[in-house]
Order: sequence, then structure tokens, then C-alpha cells
Amino acid sequence: MQRRKFIKKSIVQLGTVLVAPAVLDSCNKEDTKVKRSVIVIGAGISGLAAARKLQDEGYPVTILEAQDRVGGRLRSNRDLGIAFDEGASWIHGTDGNPMTDLAQKAGMTTFHTVDEDLVAYDLGGTLINEAVFDEKEAAYYAMLDTLKNDGNATKSFETVFLERYPQYANDRLWRFFLSTYLTFDLGDLDKMSSLLYNEGEEFDGLEKIATNGYDAIPRYLATGLSVQLNQRVSAIDYSGEKVKVTHNGTVSEADLVLVTVPLGVLKKNSIQFTPALPAAKQTAIEKIGMNCVNKFLLTWDTAFWDNVQYLAYTPEIKDKFNFFVNVKKFHPTVNALMTFAYADAARLTETMTDAQITGEIMAHLRDIYGNNIPEPTGFLRTRWNTNAFTYGAYSFTAVGTEMRHFEDLARAVNDKLFFAGEHTEVDYFSTAHGAYLSGIREAEKIMEL
Ligand SMILES: Cc1cc2nc3c(=O)[nH]c(=O)nc-3n(C[C@H](O)[C@H](O)[C@H](O)COP(=O)(O)OP(=O)(O)OC[C@H]3O[C@@H](n4cnc5c(N)ncnc54)[C@H](O)[C@@H]3O)c2cc1C
Repeated sequence: MQRRKFIKKSIVQLGTVLVAPAVLDSCNKEDTKVKRSVIVIGAGISGLAAARKLQDEGYPVTILEAQDRVGGRLRSNRDLGIAFDEGASWIHGTDGNPMTDLAQKAGMTTFHTVDEDLVAYDLGGTLINEAVFDEKEAAYYAMLDTLKNDGNATKSFETVFLERYPQYANDRLWRFFLSTYLTFDLGDLDKMSSLLYNEGEEFDGLEKIATNGYDAIPRYLATGLSVQLNQRVSAIDYSGEKVKVTHNGTVSEADLVLVTVPLGVLKKNSIQFTPALPAAKQTAIEKIGMNCVNKFLLTWDTAFWDNVQYLAYTPEIKDKFNFFVNVKKFHPTVNALMTFAYADAARLTETMTDAQITGEIMAHLRDIYGNNIPEPTGFLRTRWNTNAFTYGAYSFTAVGTEMRHFEDLARAVNDKLFFAGEHTEVDYFSTAHGAYLSGIREAEKIMEL
């Protein structure tokens, strides 16, 4: 699934700075200056990228990570014998994308997923004609190109869409596009900015899905770093000469601190800052949205579905179990489908039992393939909204967001407190590569001090 494929902006050539091919190279420069000590909070890809770069430049770095493993939202569950990526699955656009190079170095295998390798079904298992699908999809993209002209800083995408295009409101295929292409990609349509829904840049090239687990990348970056696991940071005091970080009742000190916890964690005030964060940063934390996407993996003894990459389905109820990734395409011996829920529908799944969820998914699949399809033999799920180390999936431009808010999140405070993470990257927010680039950016900022 190509996130942000509707953005037609030309991409600035990104060159080698972004690719950072030498991230693991050691520093040979003779440097006698005493390097300031750094504590990095969070061992997601942004924190690891920064720590890696700083350590390679000779900085003493310690990472404090609340969970029992590195990776954050790059997390792979292998309970069913294959890697189920609970967070990021795809490298979105391989050309110039730092994930391409990192994947190769980390031994992360990938598979080219072709968006067009898709069949779509309407209610009752009626096959949607390919030409009809293509025509409506083109109209959908044309709408995305123009809706912002009617956009308004105080109105949501949904409000403006319904005012401008009421004729599509109940069209099930249009609802599928809005759900799977837009809500999945960004966030809740009733909260999303009608002005800024197409902001951000994208890389050209292929869409590639990780096949042996996206967590290969954070594990590779973490090699040789000092990572303290199960250390939940609750307070940061940057009022004195040294920055004091409280974690599990212990206080550690460093000259500089890099905070990479997700936007959802900042929104919940899970970390107490002394002094309080500047007003501009607090506003940015409040205004930028945090969406929710949940993922579900089901396995069966036999495959009963079409031999295509993607199955689309257009149910009446929006935002859940309407899009299936055929895992068998890249794991030929495994009969598995991955499906999703987005926005409020995703949040709601976190209150549902496994049986309720599989029941709803199976009802959709039975509507397509008939009542005789077998019951699943395995099931895995995510709960990103209630995950206390994330509180959501990724950031998006909500009503009230301004693009400068991403820059406000990235701004250092008193040259002591630094911030990285996908939510701080104005061009590539909400992605694994955005998070990585934010870590490199902050490491460079620290090195320039
Ligand atoms: C469902 C889902 C699907 C996605 N799909 C894609 C995709 O296909 N492609 C793509 O490019 N991107 C995708 N993304 C986005 C991508 O995964 C993230 O943007 C990226 O991994 C974020 O990295 P990060 O370092 O900013 O944050 P994180 O990975 O969240 O790292 C932050 C770390 O901080 C830790 N932490 C939190 N609180 C504390 C605390 N109090 N003390 C200490 N540590 C703490 C967390 O445990 C975590 O390890 C997806 C994300 C989700 C959730």
C-alpha cells in the first residue's frame, strides 16, 4: 500500500546526506575535545539512529528504553512462525529512502508489493469491475488534488468533503478509498485538516514489504550501543547544569538529553519536564494529531482467496477489515491474510475480544467467498491506542495543525534538551524513514553545538 501516493509534488533530490550510508562506520578523525554525555530516551529507530551516530563520533551515549526490547514501533511478532510486523511493514518508495540501504545492511528481506495486483468485492461477493474501480480511483485522486482549494483551517476533511462532494458520501467504493487510502495513511477524517491533508514528501520507487521482520533494522542499529531496557522515564529536569532523568525511581545525569518518545506519550504528559516545556512546543504537542491503526494476522490450513496481493471489500461499516494483504504472495507456504482497522474503528477493536474480531473478519470473508470457508487456525492483533509507550500509531495533520508545529516539536530547548521521532520531521512525519532522519538530524545538531 503506497502511503501518500496521492501527493504529486516533485521530490527534492535527497542525495547522500539522507541516505547516511556510513552510519555504522567508526570515526577515524582524531578528536581530542571532551564530548558531552548524552542520554537518549527511547530505543525506537529515531533514538537508535541518533545514538549510533553520536557514539560513532565519540560521544558517551546511554539509551533508556521503557520496554523489554529495542525497536519501538518497528516490532515483529513471530508467534505464528512468520514475522508479523505490528508497526511499520513497508518501505514506502525505495529510491533515496534511507530504509533501503539500512534494510540491506541489516539483512531485512523485502518483497515488492504491486498496488494494482488487487481484486475488489462489493457486498454479497460481487466482483467490482476493474474499469469501474480504476475510473472511481482516478476520480478520487482528482478530488484529493482539488479539495484543499475549498479547505479551511477550522474545518475537517470530512466536513469539506461532504459539503463539496455529497454525491459520493454513500458510494461504497468511494468510502473504501477514503478509508484505506486516506484514513489508513493519515488519520481520522473528522479530525484531519482540510488544508493540510496532502502535506509531506514521498520517495519515488517501489513499495517493499519486510518479509523477515522490520525489527532487523533496530536490532542492527542497536549493536554495540549501551541500551538499558525496562527503564521508564517519568521526569526530566533540565533546570541545572546537568540534565537529570528519573527512570524507575533512579536519577541519571547527562550533559544533554534527546527525547524520542512518541507524540502520544507527550500528549499524555507521561513525562514531567522541569521547567515546563516552552509554550510553542506544548501547543504543537496539542495540535498535531495522533491516529490509530491496528493490524490483524490470520492463518488457515488452506488458502481460499484469490491469488492476488490485495483484496478490497466495500462493507457498509467503514474503517475496518476492508483491505487484506495476501501474505502467501511473499511466504508461499503460509496461508495468511493481514487486515487492518483505522481511526475510531481501530480504537474500538481494542475493547473487543479475539473471538469478536475474528467473527467480524470472517463475516466479511464469508460474504466474499461463501459460508464454507474454514475457520482460522491462528490470530495475532495489535493494540496501539492503549499501548502506554505509544498511545496511537503515528502523527497526522489534524484541524488546527500548522506545518510549523512539526518544527516546533523538533526545536531544542536551552541547547540541552533535544527532540526526535517521526512527529518531529516536517517532510516525512508518520514514517519509519522520517523517524530515522529525525534521529540523524538531532545527532548532527548536537555535534554542531
Ligand atoms: C500500525 C503502524 C503501521 C505503520 N506502517 C508503517 C509503514 O508501513 N512504513 C513506514 O515507513 N512507517 C510505518 N509506520 C510508522 C513507523 O513505524 C514509525 O513512524 C516509526 O517506527 C517511529 O519511530 P520513532 O523512533 O519515532 O518512535 P518509536 O518507534 O515509537 O520509539 C519510541 C520509543 O520510546 C519508548 N518510550 C516511550 N515512552 C517512554 C518512557 N517514558 N521512557 C522510556 N522510553 C519510552 C518506546 O517504548 C519506544 O521504544 C507505522 C506505524 C504503525 C504503528
